[in-house]
Amino acid sequence: MNALAKLDHRYVWHPFTQMRDWLKREPIVIMKGKGARLWDAKGREYLDANSSIWTNLHGHQHPRINAAIRRQLGKIAHSSALGLANEPASLLAEKLVAAANPPAVAPSSSPLRKVFFSDDGSTAMEVALKLAYEYARRTDRSHKPKFLALDGAYHGDTVGAVSLGHIDLFHKAYAGLLFKTDKVMAPYCYRCPFNRAKPERADARDYRKCNWECVGKVEQKFAAQKKRGNPYGAFVFEPLMQGAAGMIPQPAGWLSRATEIARSHGALLIADEVMTGFGRTGFGALREGERPREPKHRQESGLARTLAPPLFACHHEGVQPDFMALAKGLTGGYLPMAATLTTQAVFDAFLGEYEEFKTFFHGHSFTGNQLGAAAGLTSLDMLQAAGSVRPRQQLEQTLHDELQTLWRCPNVGDIRRVGLVAGVELVRDWRTREPFDLRERAGIRVCDALAKRGVLTRPVGNVIVLVPPYCTTSAEARRMVATLGEAIADFAKSL
Ligand SMILES: *Cc1c(COP(=O)(O)O)cnc(C)c1O
Repeated sequence: MNALAKLDHRYVWHPFTQMRDWLKREPIVIMKGKGARLWDAKGREYLDANSSIWTNLHGHQHPRINAAIRRQLGKIAHSSALGLANEPASLLAEKLVAAANPPAVAPSSSPLRKVFFSDDGSTAMEVALKLAYEYARRTDRSHKPKFLALDGAYHGDTVGAVSLGHIDLFHKAYAGLLFKTDKVMAPYCYRCPFNRAKPERADARDYRKCNWECVGKVEQKFAAQKKRGNPYGAFVFEPLMQGAAGMIPQPAGWLSRATEIARSHGALLIADEVMTGFGRTGFGALREGERPREPKHRQESGLARTLAPPLFACHHEGVQPDFMALAKGLTGGYLPMAATLTTQAVFDAFLGEYEEFKTFFHGHSFTGNQLGAAAGLTSLDMLQAAGSVRPRQQLEQTLHDELQTLWRCPNVGDIRRVGLVAGVELVRDWRTREPFDLRERAGIRVCDALAKRGVLTRPVGNVIVLVPPYCTTSAEARRMVATLGEAIADFAKSL
């Protein structure tokens, strides 16, 4: 075994990993990356098909981001934001606020004006959670504000973020540590009990037969809580697509409807854009009633469209939240940094004389870190450059087209994509939607087969996730999907 792999086995405890399984075989030790490719200690090359857990945007070792970090390193790596301001964090905050208030969305709602920096998606959500709680109390909305989140929600692993989450497998063990939040049905067209459509070889959102019962459930929850005399303080959601739940997309129109209900009940909106932010959702939101774009139609009208798509998922449906949590792609995936954006009204509720102690008593050692901010500034610049739209659109088109080839696999039940995020749900039989028991490790086995063939990603249960870096070439994207087809075939043979 490779010497580094031995050290890993001896000393490192990996996240979300059954270490007994881990210790049974030699781990892949990543030594280097370039663009969408990674190399391990044995010199083997891989495609990074999940952007290093959904963080990387422009590829590894991008010369511009590398240079920005080096430039900043030549000045200073870190000074505290407790009591001090710094150059790249100030510049980045300005850019984030501008990006989070696009002209098409901002005028109709209260803009996001303030940026609270932290380190990870979980911490960004903790900040939103604490601010929303305290804001609801200070504005006399509630003395003990309650939160409504979505079934299957994942907002991170710190205790507050876990409290907002609703994935039993991850969260049940810590129930005793958590505060209680409510959950409401999240749209999951493929497995929706209200969807009367028989399975088809298409994204379940496009052939569903329902009466928007999922939206009705949101309305019912808000109404019931109001009757109890303590209306929800905040509604928490991953816009357009729930990530760790299994890449579960919302049908077009769900987000605007659900948030409109929340707003009409006076609840704050907390948008967790940790996975969806920074262009990840691409052009992917279909308008209501719109069919998925056929390649031909797309060539005629779609590719001619030069308008940049929204950088944030909420804005696909004209929704402006009161809190927007950003992390994963914030630095282009180079360094851990996060931000919680909020409104002037929330900020103002924490203003007062020193001795009133209205201060937001919260912060981290690395808040506003300069290296992360420098990377973030450059990443955002690149995203907003006119020339960056076309390649992303091209990649989205390639991903869309290639994914269609997987419908021929009988063990593929649903293929769902929003922009540059896709989930392929494995089932025992597509005609019945019968799922694999988690203990069969269908997702893990397919990803192992993928890794053997040089493509790296991680499953979510029975869902294979494809989240390519934006720099992925058409040939690389085709290889990712074709290899997935082969891996699924391998797996099917083993059944
Ligand atoms: C990854 C993720 C988080 C948690 O972010 P970390 O950086 O892992 O703490 C929160 N919300 C969503 C939607 C995520 O995908």
